[in-house]
Amino acid sequence: MQHARGGWWHDYVCPTHGTELEPRSGDAYPCRYGCRLTGEPFASAWTVYTHQAGARRARLLAHRHTSARARGVVDTADRDEAVRVVREFAEVYADIAAAGWSTQSEPWMLRGKLFAQALTEAIWAVQLADAVAELATDDAARPALGAPVVSLLTGLLATITSARQTLVVHKNDPTSNYVAWIDAAGTTLNRALVALGHADDGQNWVGRTIEHARLAIGADGWEWEGSTYYHLFVLRAYLLALRGTEPAALPADAAERLADMVRVLADLAAPDGTLPMLHDGPYDRVPAHLEVLEVCVLAGQLWADSPLDAVEAATRRSLGTAHDGLEDLLTGWFGGPALLAPTREAVPAGPRPSVLFANAGYAVLRDPGDTWQAVLDAGPHGGSHGHLDKLGLYLYGTGVAWQPAPGVPPYASTLRRGYYARTLAHPTVRVDDLDQLPATGQVEDFSATRVVASAGDAIAGVSLRRELVMTDDYLLDIVHAVVDDPTGDTDTTGGRRMTLALRPAVPLTITAEGSAWRTSWAASRHGDPTRRPAPGAAELHGFHRATAPAVLLAAPGRGPSDDPARSLTNADWTVTGHEAWFVSVYSPGTAVVRDVVLHSGAAGLTAVTVLRADECSTVHEVTR
Ligand SMILES: [Zn+2]
Ligand SMILES: [Zn+2]
Repeated sequence: MQHARGGWWHDYVCPTHGTELEPRSGDAYPCRYGCRLTGEPFASAWTVYTHQAGARRARLLAHRHTSARARGVVDTADRDEAVRVVREFAEVYADIAAAGWSTQSEPWMLRGKLFAQALTEAIWAVQLADAVAELATDDAARPALGAPVVSLLTGLLATITSARQTLVVHKNDPTSNYVAWIDAAGTTLNRALVALGHADDGQNWVGRTIEHARLAIGADGWEWEGSTYYHLFVLRAYLLALRGTEPAALPADAAERLADMVRVLADLAAPDGTLPMLHDGPYDRVPAHLEVLEVCVLAGQLWADSPLDAVEAATRRSLGTAHDGLEDLLTGWFGGPALLAPTREAVPAGPRPSVLFANAGYAVLRDPGDTWQAVLDAGPHGGSHGHLDKLGLYLYGTGVAWQPAPGVPPYASTLRRGYYARTLAHPTVRVDDLDQLPATGQVEDFSATRVVASAGDAIAGVSLRRELVMTDDYLLDIVHAVVDDPTGDTDTTGGRRMTLALRPAVPLTITAEGSAWRTSWAASRHGDPTRRPAPGAAELHGFHRATAPAVLLAAPGRGPSDDPARSLTNADWTVTGHEAWFVSVYSPGTAVVRDVVLHSGAAGLTAVTVLRADECSTVHEVTR
């Protein structure tokens, strides 16, 4: 254990490659590309990892001890080691807290004592206090924890109480995701104090958790920021905070809100259970997978028929041998039997239908067999975790993510704001190579097979609209970009450069065919051509044609944010002018499209005919 203050974990990223660093080796903090970094801020960031790992270890040992005891097995080694870890943390904390607040905090942070940020302290406190509460059920461990552990708990409680006052009262920010974690720490620290025979602080922390859910969760079940990761983050805080609460005693609206949050994950997930990482959040990171697993396990105890089986299976696949088994020991989390229905309406058995999340503005179109899906982003910007990605189109299959939301690297990387949050990183439209503006999209029409959405404010002077039509064997994608007032256009270059981006996470090949293009998107899960595709994963075939002279330019670019230094073929499809329709047809498995014919009238594109290889054809009217 390091007897040191933790910094900010997001600093643990290679400045050269944008990849999260590997575990410390000697005096160096290594990057997977061979970089060897030393000193700050990496050292303090690494301390966060070791403190988190220590708290997780104490929690694992404590739960392993109590679950063995429940089976009649007495394993004092686990118990004694857990007590030792907790006591050592109490010593470290006593030294560090005596020295006052962290001086490593960024100006925007709520300061902590053991860590730079009070949020990190709250998350860590939940882990450690849960270990203490578990150990306190043991007659030998309880007295062994002693006064220093009580001081640790009361010290942490004072820090988070003060952070809550600053955030909720002084900054008037009660919907912040920090508040959910502060409240989870409040319930858990009090539970540990009571388990050790001390009085609680008299505050209604569970009531605060329920109040936060009422404020921060929309009618469609999404946490207001519309980021998959922060949705999970807040849901996990709620489930942890409700330890020992009787499910049947939850206020009906709170239980419904939690059920809606779980339903969001089940309905958003790709057919293989992979969660699209919309907006800020890690694309593929072991600690985040552990967080998802904990949500799945706890949700499974709150509802008898929790719909997260596929998400849990995908998460366990991603973790592989990186799972130490902690989450599987978290039994009897709530103070009563699981509730029966996770949603208001019964969910029909069989393939999942398409779904629109009206508040977050995400539409998910699925094929009839639920084997692949398109996700369209047409909602609000989403606060500080939003991206400039309005009308972005993400494509997921089974065992493959051809064009996924890319996530972001750890926040200290310049590539978070410099690339991954920008329009450039997303499969949507940018004009004159500028970023979009933070904007709210509008879903104009939605059915099981069609969505039409527009974004009038995302690009100054240009209106965007995207229409998706899902059929049995292909997805039709029509993107319309039009300059609002071409007469006010003073440039002499003949219009504006309107670019629709293709942003694959897999090897992409492009071939021009007359004035159209074919693309093929490999069936590779990780974009790494040397790794074997997942069983059953399909290649995706694209056919692309625009209404105006266009260039579809292949160029090396970045893939998802788990490895920003990996180079993949990206494509930018550009029309210079005042108006264009970019029409694509995507089909997984078999290339069913022979040609795509565009029919235009005086007012522009009116219909698209998709000619299939089997000589059938379908005419699609374009929504005006
Ligand atoms: Zn590096
Ligand atoms: Zn967005």
